Amino acid sequence: MNKLPIPPSGIYTFENARLHASLTVGFDGLADADGFVSADVAINGGRIVSIAPHRLGTPASPGAVDLKGRIVLPCFVDCHTHLDKGHIWQRSPNPDGSFAGALYAAHADRAARWSAKDVSRRMDFALRTAFAHGTKAIRTHLDSAAPQDAISWPVFEDIREKWHGRIDLQAACLVGIEETRDQAWFAGLARRVAGARGVLGAVTYMVPDLDALLDRMFALAVEHGLDLDFHADETDAIDAISLKKIAEAALRHRFERKILVGHCCSLARQPDGEVLDTLDKVARAKIAVVSLPMCNLYLQDRRHDQTTPRWRGVTLLHEMKARGIPVAVASDNTRDPFYAYGDLDMLEVYRMATRILHLDHPVGDWPRAVAQTPAKTMQLDNTGVLQPGGPADLVVFKGRNWTELLSRPEADRIVIRDGKPIDTSLPDYAELDDLMRA
Ligand SMILES: [Zn+2]
Repeated sequence: MNKLPIPPSGIYTFENARLHASLTVGFDGLADADGFVSADVAINGGRIVSIAPHRLGTPASPGAVDLKGRIVLPCFVDCHTHLDKGHIWQRSPNPDGSFAGALYAAHADRAARWSAKDVSRRMDFALRTAFAHGTKAIRTHLDSAAPQDAISWPVFEDIREKWHGRIDLQAACLVGIEETRDQAWFAGLARRVAGARGVLGAVTYMVPDLDALLDRMFALAVEHGLDLDFHADETDAIDAISLKKIAEAALRHRFERKILVGHCCSLARQPDGEVLDTLDKVARAKIAVVSLPMCNLYLQDRRHDQTTPRWRGVTLLHEMKARGIPVAVASDNTRDPFYAYGDLDMLEVYRMATRILHLDHPVGDWPRAVAQTPAKTMQLDNTGVLQPGGPADLVVFKGRNWTELLSRPEADRIVIRDGKPIDTSLPDYAELDDLMRA
């Protein structure tokens, strides 16, 4: 059991917590080699009242909750998900694990099954799962080709309202860039997105008129005051340079709102000169990048000739961060044709990202990639960081250092919201059985 004696009043101090300096305000210079500081965190009225260095060796104060050096992180931020696709694997599996197989299976499932009730129940299941794992903000993409846009956006607005105060939910529309050639339809979609306070998004490929289509998208984003979110270059094709095209469009339009670009896999396959030119433009355009390491590992370099995958599929996150480009990692798909696994657990994402992308030795400030960096891209205040005056939304783990934290699932972690522990039991898969029948 992993219970803590937290008083029902919600007024207490966590003593001897291990906080990470990259996710805590005011602890620069006090951290150990792994970035941790021992601290006492006073909580009252759902907020962090103070964070003070812990004096090692001192006995716990009366009434305090002694954490004995356990790691405490702020609640997670998951900036790239597909809640509308989630958990359809049982009825629409990917036959061969390929990208083409995923597109086909997901499209067929959407056309046949995505009623408001179906989308809503799977989204709610996903949100309960993420909440129990300790996530407090999520951006989902919503498949928005007609007629799905008219179904999914009202569902999203309804669910965002129901989850208000537990998960900050954002949505970006997802359409193939070639679909935006239908100008009247896409302008209508932009109006719908603006009406729902959403984000304008698309999947970019190397179509001949990509620059013109991006120009139109940026113009619509300016007209409606929308942030932008792209899926770009989710492929090993060396000539896939739509990330650079997006950066050039942003610079052309002097775009000042937030831009988030996901995947950018092909960048890792390109020659150094090409990479440097792209990264320069991405940095100048103030674009943030999110890598989706679990999905990339699953879909990229998938082979059907009984040979072994040879590359990891992820983009150049270290090089981006070194240039000051804000970088995040996120869940992407969960139990759908694009990824057969996943549970919207950002600790799992961080654990897998550490292994796939080598976010260690040193860990440095990589923990920001699942917390305050995506929070800033999503324009969320007081999120992804622990600070006096901020909300007491945090996760208490068993692990006391990185090797302990990242070696076990930490399924018995304690999630504190508004200063109080929440029920972290996960929804039962059987709840969705009736939606999975043919
Ligand atoms: Zn995605």
